[in-house]
Amino acid sequence: MMKKAWHNIDYNEVLEKLESTPKGLTNEEVKKRLAQYGYNEIPEMGKKHWLFILLKQYNSLLIWVLFIAAGISWATGHFADMYIILAVILINTMIGFIQELKAESAVSSLKSMLVAKAKVIRDGEKSTIEARELVPGDIIILEEGDSIPADARLIESKNLRAIEAPLTGESVPVNKDTEAMPENTVLADQKNMLRKSTFIAGGYALAVVTGTAMNTAIGEIAKTLGKIKVQKTNFQKKTDVLAKQMAVIAIASATLLFTVSYFIRQQEWEQVLLISIAALVSAIPEGLPAVLSIVLAIGANRMAKRKAIIREFTATETLGAVTTIITDKTGTLTQNTLTTRKIGIYGEEDIRVSGEGWVPAGNFNKGSSVIDTSEHPYLDTFFQICAFSNNSEIKHDKEKDLYNLMGDPTEGALLVLARKAGWNTTKLPEIKKIDDLPFNSTIKMRATIVEQDKKLSLLVVGAPEKVLEKSVKVHSKSGAIEMTPEIAQSIRERIEQWSGEAMRVIALAYRDEKQGTDKIDENKVDNLVFAGIVGMIDPPRPDVKESVAACHKAGIRVIMATGDHINTAIAIAKATGILTSDDEGKTKAITEKQLLELDDREFDLVIQHTNVFARLTPNMKLKIAERLQAAGELIAMTGDGVNDAPVLKKADVGVAMGIMGTDVARDAANVVLSDDNFSTIVSAVEQGRIVFNNTRHTSFFLLTTNFAEITTLVSAVAIGLPIPLTATQILWLNLVTDGACTTAMATESGHGDELEAKPVNPKEKILNKEVLPFIIINSVIMAVLALSAFHWFFEQDGNEEKARSAAFIVMAFCQLFNVFNMRSLK
Ligand code: ADP
Ligand code: MG
Repeated sequence: MMKKAWHNIDYNEVLEKLESTPKGLTNEEVKKRLAQYGYNEIPEMGKKHWLFILLKQYNSLLIWVLFIAAGISWATGHFADMYIILAVILINTMIGFIQELKAESAVSSLKSMLVAKAKVIRDGEKSTIEARELVPGDIIILEEGDSIPADARLIESKNLRAIEAPLTGESVPVNKDTEAMPENTVLADQKNMLRKSTFIAGGYALAVVTGTAMNTAIGEIAKTLGKIKVQKTNFQKKTDVLAKQMAVIAIASATLLFTVSYFIRQQEWEQVLLISIAALVSAIPEGLPAVLSIVLAIGANRMAKRKAIIREFTATETLGAVTTIITDKTGTLTQNTLTTRKIGIYGEEDIRVSGEGWVPAGNFNKGSSVIDTSEHPYLDTFFQICAFSNNSEIKHDKEKDLYNLMGDPTEGALLVLARKAGWNTTKLPEIKKIDDLPFNSTIKMRATIVEQDKKLSLLVVGAPEKVLEKSVKVHSKSGAIEMTPEIAQSIRERIEQWSGEAMRVIALAYRDEKQGTDKIDENKVDNLVFAGIVGMIDPPRPDVKESVAACHKAGIRVIMATGDHINTAIAIAKATGILTSDDEGKTKAITEKQLLELDDREFDLVIQHTNVFARLTPNMKLKIAERLQAAGELIAMTGDGVNDAPVLKKADVGVAMGIMGTDVARDAANVVLSDDNFSTIVSAVEQGRIVFNNTRHTSFFLLTTNFAEITTLVSAVAIGLPIPLTATQILWLNLVTDGACTTAMATESGHGDELEAKPVNPKEKILNKEVLPFIIINSVIMAVLALSAFHWFFEQDGNEEKARSAAFIVMAFCQLFNVFNMRSLK
């Protein structure tokens, strides 16, 4: 196909040229095109070449110290030692190479768990597919928060804004529409095109794919772009420091031993050199860098098995140090299967609704009798709003007889409610949707313009106080009447009461719309007629209470930050144990409105003690996180929407929802929960602590050996014994004995008490005061035992080699016992 300027022609012509229609391609056509164009994938750029990884192994101070040792052996004619040291260098770099390759492939398999999805229309049917299966000519649907899966030309758009920063660097969302543009319009100004790897900030779009894979704007860039730099994790930085320290110790102790044995002990040149080489190799924890990358990789894999997918290895260790978790309510603490329990119309008693989940079957009860909703015309307006101010879909899987939701659960619950009353949107062709404003978490409302019998109306759904604020009339059995302060007050009381019963309360409203209106202005959703309220329940997830308790025991504070009503928030906080009996008498919860009235000092004080925040906007979430971080907390924070991206970036560990979350949120997060469950965060924290322990224990273990070897050498020279261990023996200990042991230690799966300790301080060094006694005691014991063995055999018949073998075996066995010591510092 020849390259065309897709932005320059009418979209109908685009469709024609791509041989597609708004109903999409047929499945056979897709197969053909897939064979022709290949998968919609851009080869990964961050991936390192194996040769690079191999050469990198030689870029290490420790390896160079070994080369120096080999050089000295060569110069003094100790060829056997030289060959052995060279072999050790080779083996060591090979092990490092293989382990790093493994870690690398672990990372890419984690990445592949986060499959990008796309919503398409094919054969006239909506469905969700993997983004890699897209072909030119496919019709795609995009909504707020979606990542754009391919380059595409708009054929329909509503209030559409896109974030094109990944491509153009422009961070402000740009408006998009379907109009054709002049031929010479530059890429950044092509308002009718959507670009792969950018995001939808808001609105709705229907578009036809014009290019996939490398035939996209980002693909063009990818061709010219070099490798992406992978940052070192915090722990890698710490071990780099440690490696440097150990290299300094190696050189210092070699110099010291050289001086003592040559000038003071006046030993033979030969002995002096042997002991200096031994000292050089003894202080180097050869296996350390490699074993640490395995520990992190194993940790990340274990987390993935528990449904927490790590997007950056750093997050594995940071998770273990988290002191505060700030979590969403809906979907994370609760199940997110909203079921309507009550309907409230002004002047009428509550109508109760039966049924469970997404199954569109249930009864309506008033008092003790079942009512037929079709006999009560005043309810029609109410159900029409439920059914049409809605962007969700309930799909019936006939084989398994399951009802599945596509879309937002709040909207799903309203759709199910309408279906229970017999309103099936597909069977009402006389009602036409003109425009739709998807739910906006700042105004906390959504709206739709519909046309029926040539009359337009605006249908609104949203948070009840917000809708009430914007209502001037109220719908009743006898039609719309004036909203008086008394009526508003009575509605407010009803909302409070229902919220207190742990219900999520949603309000419905409408207004007549002027002829010819075809766009909703999100700042002018007002002058409404209040149509009534819906109370839905969203039960807490069964395992959350236990997880919250585990957090408290582990010294981790749990904060709920929700956009929902304060009463609903408190009810769920009590049910999940975020609020306990200890909180009686204190401020249980606080809303954004109340927070805005505080000065900075009061604000900081309040966030120290309050654990439930209600009616928050993402901006306030960000402020709370920042102030807590300033107070020294390490924060894990959940989020799902477009507006949550800054919060996820700001948090020490940003946690995005895998199911309900938007692509924007997932892109900004360090961790993605594939089951959206709060308990998963807690088990990830537990795994993080295990990883932290394992890295520490393996480091200590290796350091103990190094210190024991140095101590042995120094003491032997000090008391005038011949050299007790040769360089070759020391290398064997460091590499073979320790290598096998640390591999075992790296897979330690925890002792089950990880969540009983307080969080570790992330700034803590590997070598700290806590472990110093262990290292000193162990090194001294090992040195004393090895020297005694050496001395005992040497005294018997003066056979140095036999004595050295004895010292060597004692050391090796000490290390084997030491593994059991180091499994746990307790
Ligand atoms: P949360 O989901 O934690 O309650 P949000 O900011 O997403 O927080 O929502 C705030 C409020 O807006 C909700 O409590 C509800 O009253 C209302 N709301 C949420 N989703 C929708 C929706 N899809 N349509 C209409 N109103 C909604
Ligand atoms: Mg929500």
